[in-house]
Amino acid sequence: MIQEDVDQLFQQQIAEWEFVRQQYEALSRIRTRDVMIDESLYRIQFNPARALSSAARIDKASLAKRPCFLCDPQRPKEQKSIPFGEDYLILVNPYPIFPKHLTIPTRKHTDQCIRERFSDLLDAAKALPHYVLFYNGPKCGASAPDHAHFQAAEKGSMPLEKEWKALEFRAIRSKGEAKLCYLNRALNPVLRITSASKEDATALFELVYDYLEIRKDEVEPRMNILTWYEEGKWMIFLFPRDSHRPSCYHDEEEYRRLISPGSVDMAGLIISAIERDFKGITDEELAQILREVSLPTQDYLQLIIKLKKHHD
Ligand SMILES: [Zn+2]
Repeated sequence: MIQEDVDQLFQQQIAEWEFVRQQYEALSRIRTRDVMIDESLYRIQFNPARALSSAARIDKASLAKRPCFLCDPQRPKEQKSIPFGEDYLILVNPYPIFPKHLTIPTRKHTDQCIRERFSDLLDAAKALPHYVLFYNGPKCGASAPDHAHFQAAEKGSMPLEKEWKALEFRAIRSKGEAKLCYLNRALNPVLRITSASKEDATALFELVYDYLEIRKDEVEPRMNILTWYEEGKWMIFLFPRDSHRPSCYHDEEEYRRLISPGSVDMAGLIISAIERDFKGITDEELAQILREVSLPTQDYLQLIIKLKKHHD
C-alpha cells in the first residue's frame, strides 16, 4: 500500500535528514490566527520558511537561470522518494505548511498543466486516503511552473475540509455518477464535483475547463484544485482564478502584503511569510486579496449559466 510506504518515508526522512527534522519541528511551533469573513472561516498561518516560495520569481528568464529543484540531480541528496505510477515520485516537502506535506513531481522535467493529468490527481487522492491532494496552476501558486507536480497535505488542515464542506452547495448538473455544484457567494467562488466514478468526474472537470478562458501566452485556464477521497467518493473543489498575485503584493514596501495565494489559501488557510502581514492584515485587505485572485462574480455566474445550459 502506497499510504503505508509514505508513512514510512516520513518517519525515515525525519529521522535521517536533519534539515527536514528541524523544519517540521519549527512548524509545530508556528502561530495561526482565525478570522471570519462573509461567514466563512479563514485561518492565517505565520510561516517564515515559506518566504522563498511566496516570493518565487516565475518569469521565463528567472526559471531558465535557476536549477530546477524538482529535477533529480538538483534535489538534496538526503531527499528520498517513492515511485507513484510510472510517471511520478512522492517526496517529503522540505518547506512544510502541514504536519505532513508531500510534493509529487513527474519524473521528467515537463510543464505544469492539469488537463492530461487530472485523472492522475484523482488516482493519487485515492492512493493516499490520509491526504488532501492539490494542484496549483502555473500562474496560480506553483513555484515550479516548469516542472509538473501535485502536492498533498495531511487531512484536517484546511477550513475547506470541515467548515466549508457544510455550506450549502447548489446543483449545476450531473454526469452519470458525478455531480457538479457551486457555492452561491461573491467572495472566493468555488465549484465542487463529487463522484464515485473517475471517468464521470473527469468528464465534468473537462466541461468546466472548456468553458474557462485561456489567456494569451498561457497554456490553460487559471485554477486551483483540491481533492480527497472518502467513503468511496472523490470530493473535488475547483477555484477559478483571475490575478496571479494580488495588487498589494506589488505595492510599495510600506503597504506591501507578501501573500501569493495558491490552493491552500483558496481553501481558507492563508500563508503569511512576514510577521507584519500576519499580525496586521485586516479582514478587508484579506477579502480584497481573495476578490482580486478569484474569477470575478459576474464571470462566475455566467460560467454557471453556461454549464447549466450545456447540451452533451
Ligand atoms: Zn525539473
